[in-house]
Amino acid sequence: MNFADSEVVGAILTGAGHHIVTDLNEATFMLINTCAIRDNAEQRVRHRVRELRALQTRRHALRIGILGCMAERLQHQLMSEEDNLSLVCGPDAYRSLPQLIEQVRGGAAAAAVELSTTETYADIEPVRLGANGISAYISIMRGCQNYCSYCVVPYTRGRERSRDPQTIVREAHTLFQRGYREVTLLGQNVNSYSWPGTGFPELMDAVASIDPLLRVRFATSHPKDLSDRLLEVMASHPNICRCIHLPVQSGSNHMLQLMNRKYSVEWYLDRVDAIRRYMPDCSITTDVIAGFSGETLDDHQATLDLFHRVRYDYAYMFKYSEREGTYASRHLPDDIADAEKTRRLNEIIALQGEIALENNRTEVGREYEVLVEGESHRSHEQLFGRNSQNKVIVFDRRDAQPGTYRHVRVDTCTAATLIGTLID
Ligand code: SAH
Ligand code: SF4
Repeated sequence: MNFADSEVVGAILTGAGHHIVTDLNEATFMLINTCAIRDNAEQRVRHRVRELRALQTRRHALRIGILGCMAERLQHQLMSEEDNLSLVCGPDAYRSLPQLIEQVRGGAAAAAVELSTTETYADIEPVRLGANGISAYISIMRGCQNYCSYCVVPYTRGRERSRDPQTIVREAHTLFQRGYREVTLLGQNVNSYSWPGTGFPELMDAVASIDPLLRVRFATSHPKDLSDRLLEVMASHPNICRCIHLPVQSGSNHMLQLMNRKYSVEWYLDRVDAIRRYMPDCSITTDVIAGFSGETLDDHQATLDLFHRVRYDYAYMFKYSEREGTYASRHLPDDIADAEKTRRLNEIIALQGEIALENNRTEVGREYEVLVEGESHRSHEQLFGRNSQNKVIVFDRRDAQPGTYRHVRVDTCTAATLIGTLID
């Protein structure tokens, strides 16, 4: 999501006459887009800002600004704590960046941290910074008001608001015309996308109808709102990718309740069954938090049991990190020792590693259509691409070109990668 936001910022700044440079030594201004979701994300940013001091003593003209959720969360406090910063700008204030930069050039510090109930940057055509020319992100909504008790996002990104569907379809269409072959629609909870006459299933239908050669992905789906209607639309479009990111957070109903996730394990498993009913070949991925407030060994075991049951293709796994201002920080003690959180996390990671490897082994011998993305990291002779399930497949390049679809048979695998051969 920050990546997509940086592309909007890029468009706002180039529109105001600034240039984006790739060599930091040429920059007069450096803007760091930040995440506040866990403490270690913030610590990494602070570390980076402190490292940049050395560069600033050599290049007095270099100014540094912080964008995004950390700017929103800490506001002016951040500039007093890190005195080499000149600018903070929250996620809804990016249109004011050109003025803020002028202010800094005039010698003053600058800050804009107002949240908005309407800003979606709908009219801004992002500058594509990722630039593989094949896949791009499209932000379809901003903010979140689910208030999961551990989560800082509702405080740093404001109220949920959806973007005009016409601008979304137009952006996807333009990307396709420019040769892009994959778009990922982004929101904190895409299932609650809402515009008069258009819900998320209708939006997916419209984007997927642009062209059968355009792959469509999305993230993230909150399990409480994953509807059969969406699954029907997915099943009816082969170019909507067979991959659903469905963050579970915990396998214990007691934890889910304390987390304010608004679903039970039974509900979640029913949604998993529904996905597999509509699309037996759909991969399912998740997020999970180890060591949330009051998590007992039984709660933790329930998470492991759920992982055994669902057999995720991939999981993002985290230790609970208490965030100031959240319901949990005010009312629920952060009472699992860090070493114990690490132990539980490692147990989940080890189990997921085994499951991913076993899942991948069942892929050996299967044939997939792959969107070729680029050269493999290991060898110039090999390319990599992804199948609809979002699994990476590496294969000998022969005559294959990035940005095209090819068929590949899987020969072997690791826990993270499938290795195959071109068959067309
Ligand atoms: N909107 C998405 C999640 C966005 S945040 C959803 O609800 O599914 C991405 C992930 O970060 C979350 O799914 C959660 O697993 C993790 N996360 C959020 N707050 C956290 C915290 N305080 N400590 C640890 N992990 C957290
Ligand atoms: Fe955070 Fe919950 Fe919103 Fe996701 S749905 S961003 S976890 S509050």
